[in-house]
This record gives sequence, structure tokens and C-alpha cells, in this order.
Amino acid sequence: MKRADIAPFLRAISAGNPTPRTELVYSTPFTLLVAVVLSAQATDAAVNKATPSLFAEASDPDSMAKLGADGIARHIRSIGLWQAKAKNLAALSHLLIQRHGGDVPPDRDALEALPGVGRKTANVVLNEIFGHPTMAVDTHIFRLGNRTGIAPGKTVRQVEDGLIARIPKDMLRPAHHWLILHGRYLCKARKPECWRCPGAEWCVFTPKTQPPITQGQVP
Ligand code: SF4
Repeated sequence: MKRADIAPFLRAISAGNPTPRTELVYSTPFTLLVAVVLSAQATDAAVNKATPSLFAEASDPDSMAKLGADGIARHIRSIGLWQAKAKNLAALSHLLIQRHGGDVPPDRDALEALPGVGRKTANVVLNEIFGHPTMAVDTHIFRLGNRTGIAPGKTVRQVEDGLIARIPKDMLRPAHHWLILHGRYLCKARKPECWRCPGAEWCVFTPKTQPPITQGQVP
């Protein structure tokens, strides 16, 4: 995609949603961090089903550390990798108390030093809580970066760096959500719904998917 086409493409796919937010349900920086850790290789919907009972019992580092890995595990067994995630959340809570007075640090290195927190999780927290123009590249954004031509790359980091370099600075923060939502609901992995895509005129993907033939139509 030509650089000049990126802004109109993003404006088109963002129509009606100028200030998008994550679909993860949270109420504090800590509960967002927990939800994002749980969302690795799991859907936001699956995380949102598990977190109400977990947060009812533990919604801050102190109570989460006291609940411990076994107590956390009771609430998150429906989520993939639950054993490792329960251990990480218990250890992460202890470290937040020891190193940061129980606060979520607004700093990439400090975040990535926590168990279960990688670059992508740090990017989500920095973007959503602290307003940093970061780009957390999940499966949807990786696919869209390549498919639309905004930021082609073989690795997650290449796509992340390409998006950061090419998306206009004032659009970077919401662009993260616009691209995820567009990938989740319209530019789907197996069959992008190009026939109803508001960004089709700028997207380089070819051939564009045609609308399904409905009953009564002549092919
Ligand atoms: S035109 Fe198709 S491939 Fe391009 S962004 Fe839209 S849905 Fe995705």
C-alpha cells in the first residue's frame, strides 16, 4: 500500500469508531495486565468469561499473590495454558509488590521483566493504559500488515516496526484497535470479506473476494 493511502484506508475501516478500546473487560491497570497475560493464545471472549470470578476474589496484586497459583488456577481452567498462566500471575503479583509498590509500571523494560509478559503484552498495556503509540502485533495485525500491504514482513517484529514507521503518528494508537477489529470481524483469516470492506479501494490484496451467491441469484 502506498504511504499516502494508509490514512484514508484507516479512516475508512475505523468509520463510526474513532476512539476504540480493547474488548478485554478490566477496571484497573492491574486487571488489564492480568487479562492480557491470560489472552495469550486465547480469545478475548474466553478471557472475559473467566475473569469476573477471578477478579471478584483478587483484583489487586496483594490479593492475587495471596490467592496463589492454585487459587488462581481454579478460575482460569477454561483458558489455554492455564497452569503456566496461574503460576505467572502469582509470581507477577509478588514482583509488582516488591519492585513497583503494587503499581503497573509505565515502562517497557520493567513490564517485560515480569513473568508471562512479553513484548506484545507490554505493547497492549503501554497503549491502553499509558497512551503510548505502540503496536501490539497479534495474529490479526500480522495478517493485515501483510495482506493489505501496509507493512509486509516475515516476522512479527518486522510488521510491528513497519506499522510504526508507516502509519501517521496521530493515528498509531487507535490504529492498533482498528486493525484488530477489522481482522476479527471482516478481513478474516480464511476468507476476507472484501465485497463489503470500506477500505478495499486502498488495499493491495488481489483478487478481492467476491460476495457469496445467495439463493435465487444466477451465478
Ligand atoms: S479489501 Fe479484503 S483483503 Fe483488503 S482489507 Fe478489505 S477485507 Fe481485507
